Order: sequence, then C-alpha cells, then structure tokens
Amino acid sequence: MNKPSIAIPDIFKQSFNGKPFSHCLICEKELIASGAHYIIEKAIRHYPRNNTEDVIFEYAMCVTCHEEIMRHYSQESLQAMRRFFAEHVDFRLRHNTMVDMAKSNTFATSDWIRNCLIKGTPIEHLREYQLGAECMGDQMILSGMPYIIGGPAIDELTMQLSNETIDQMRGYMDQFLGVPPELRKLLNDSGILIL
Ligand SMILES: [Zn+2]
Repeated sequence: MNKPSIAIPDIFKQSFNGKPFSHCLICEKELIASGAHYIIEKAIRHYPRNNTEDVIFEYAMCVTCHEEIMRHYSQESLQAMRRFFAEHVDFRLRHNTMVDMAKSNTFATSDWIRNCLIKGTPIEHLREYQLGAECMGDQMILSGMPYIIGGPAIDELTMQLSNETIDQMRGYMDQFLGVPPELRKLLNDSGILIL
C-alpha cells in the first residue's frame, strides 16, 4: 500500500466509550484484528454558544457494504456526487500534501478537519458537520480523507441527488443507525450522507 497511515486518532473513535470502532455497522464483521478496509463517519451537531456538541450518528462500515449501498443509488445521483466533489476539491493535491507531511512528520489530523472540505468554512462556524475517515485495521489511511463537510455543503449536494436516492439514504439511516427523531430533527433536510 503506497498510502501512508497513522494510528486512528481519538476523534475517530466511538464517542461514548473512546474505543475504536470494531465492527461493520451493516455486516457486523470484525474490522481491527482482521485488518479490514473500512470508513468511519460521524455527524455532529455543534452549539457554538456554549461550545458543546451532540453526536447525531457515528459508525464504521466496511468497503464491501459501502459499495453495496452505493450500487443502489441512481446513476444520476452518483454522477452528481462525483461532479460535485470534482468541482470543489482537488483530491490529488490534498492526498499529495498529506503524504509530504507524513514523510516530514508534520501531519496533524486536526489540520485536515478544521475547515469544510467544500466551502472552507471553519468548523467553529458550522452548526452541523460530518466527519469522514478511511481506515485499515487499527490505522487511518491518509487518502484525501480525513475531512469534514459542513451542513450547507451537504445541503447543496443533496439538492443535486434524486428523490429516490435521498429516500434510500433515509431508509438506511432508519434501518441501521436508529437515530432518535429528536436528534434527527437537528440535522438539515439532508439527514444522512454516505460517501
Ligand atoms: Zn460490512
């Protein structure tokens, strides 16, 4: 693997007990000892006034389940997602910069989750955001992830997705995440976004 990696930082561990995510949300396979390839996503609601936050949902999902889910989204939606990211993010530059920093021992996760990936908005100005990381076993891969995406950017992307895809995302949210309605209301219309 030519992508460098670091031990999974605390921010990408389970918020309620500080331990690493150990199983895939969907197929429940073990992730760490097996050296599985997986992603971690969290959705956070931030209250700037008293600087507190709620974790609306968080999970780890193996890439096999992730691909399976993406297969069910419409082609139009998948194209819209790809276009949206291509228009806003130079992932190659991002990845290369991470690799250079890792080589010179100057990589710090916090530098990469400080601003919205799409709009550059500082995290402290976001009421909602989602965090993403790509991992393998007990390592976080420096791949372009980690990143955060703010609520406004998620809304903008959601507007370009088909209703069918949005319904599917909501369905997965209900089926696998069991987000309580009072927290779900705190999310923008977009609800879930699986990237
Ligand atoms: Zn899985």
